[in-house]
Amino acid sequence: MRYVFDLGEQPSAALAGSEARFPVRRIYCVARNYAEHAREMGYDPDREPPFFFSKPADALVENGCDVPYPPRTNNLHHEVELVIAIGKDGRNIAVEDAESHIYGYAVGNDLTRRDLQSLAKKDGRPWDTAKGFDFSAPMSALHRVDEVGHLRQGRIWLTVNGETRQDGDLAAMIWTVPEVVAELSTLYELKAGDLIFTGTPAGVGPVKPGDAIECGVDGLDVLRHRIV
Ligand code: MN
Repeated sequence: MRYVFDLGEQPSAALAGSEARFPVRRIYCVARNYAEHAREMGYDPDREPPFFFSKPADALVENGCDVPYPPRTNNLHHEVELVIAIGKDGRNIAVEDAESHIYGYAVGNDLTRRDLQSLAKKDGRPWDTAKGFDFSAPMSALHRVDEVGHLRQGRIWLTVNGETRQDGDLAAMIWTVPEVVAELSTLYELKAGDLIFTGTPAGVGPVKPGDAIECGVDGLDVLRHRIV
């Protein structure tokens, strides 16, 4: 196969304790998967279940790398999230089988141009420009399931310049990790290399150039990045 030009490297994620990297195919994201966050955004989680959107794979930012403040926004928000990495293909996956499709876990920040998202909601337009921009997906190294097990509860938190902004627990997810995998697999065939950002707890808010962000989930690497 010969291409008319070179697109550059396959998007990929670091793997904790390994020189090898995890190739990334697609990035799916869950919206409003924590009740308190749904409420802070003005929605009733009892009436409106979580749903999905996506980001491009080349929006990933390696742990420790700077994130340029994106264009066309005055309200960039942080959203700390547990990220699932899929290691085995499947469609219509049963909730009971879902964990067997998971390769590992990471911590991510679903950066959001909140002002563009608010406009999109108001006008009934897609979220792509609010969510899927360049450098919109900082993520830690992936930790393999055989190293950390399956994450069902534990603290999930985010600080900006050392001040705590988000502090929740994975156990508060509306759709659990197996339910997220099962539900998503009814919409798309999941493939090894897919990532799923599983939603953010309450406390989202703005960041600006110069801010230092730290994101954590119990048992995983801390994700650190600066907005520049
Ligand atoms: Mn999110």
